[in-house]
Parts: sequence; C-alpha cells; structure tokens
Amino acid sequence: MKYCFECGTLLVDKPLKKEGMIPYCSKCEAFRFPIFSSAVSMIIHNPSKDKILLIKQYGTGNNVLVAGYINKGENAENAVIREAYEEIGLRVGELRFNKSEYFPKTNTLMLNYSCVADTEALDGMNTEEVDEARWFTFEEARNSIMPKSLAKRFLLNYLDDI
Ligand SMILES: [Zn+2]
Repeated sequence: MKYCFECGTLLVDKPLKKEGMIPYCSKCEAFRFPIFSSAVSMIIHNPSKDKILLIKQYGTGNNVLVAGYINKGENAENAVIREAYEEIGLRVGELRFNKSEYFPKTNTLMLNYSCVADTEALDGMNTEEVDEARWFTFEEARNSIMPKSLAKRFLLNYLDDI
C-alpha cells in the first residue's frame, strides 16, 4: 500500500513501538497496516470421521473444499459454522485449526479448519452456490481434489498429520 486508503496521501515509513517501520499517513495521523481479506475453508468430516466432503462449484468441475469470506466483526470459527450451513446445510462442530496460507490472486488470507458434521445427509445443499457435494474416503479425497490448489495443500497437510 503506497497511498492512504482514506485520503490518498502518500504514505511515509514511521517507527511504531515494537512493530518497526510502518507506513504512516501524516494527514490522517494514522498508521496504515496492510489491508487484505480473510476467508475460511474447511475439511468437513462425516460423523464417523472416515470421510471428507468435497464440492464442485461454479461449473468448473474441480473438487474443492467448502470456503467463504469472514464477515467484518465475525470470528473465523463462526464463519466456518455459518458457511458450512449456508452452502451445504450441515451443522458442524469439533473445529480444529489446520493451516493458513495467503492467496495473492484475491489478496486473501485463508484459514483452514477441520470440523465434523452431525449428519451425512446433503439434501440441504445450496444449489445456487454448489453444483455437487460428495463424501470421499481419505484416499479418494487425496486423489480427487483439484491439483496444485490451495485446497489440496491444506488437505494433504491435514491428512499427513493425522
Ligand atoms: Zn490519510
């Protein structure tokens, strides 16, 4: 960020206690930390925890993880619970943080969680947002998830750990 997002003034680096040099707007008299979006994605297990949910979305045909942006004022765990319900109609619990990665294309920090659904029933799926949702065994999920994707790195990191 080169200019202040509020007033457009050119930012100058200024020392901030315990933080080092931070871009500063002399007009607003405010430090301007980097701005980016935050999102969650989740590895959803079935109740017996031997399968993982992958979905296809937006006509791409790729198997990915359920994901969504965090609302302003919302914590990441609530975003996981909300998105799982909005997209798939699943109630999820037992949330565990897995891994995070910055996704430059959309300027988004992705936070990945694992969680457990209370049912395998997928009839509550939001058909406007999701083309297809299916339960995969761990091996199937490894082999079916979109190659070279952020979702795949999250999933493999998780499966290699458990
Ligand atoms: Zn400013």
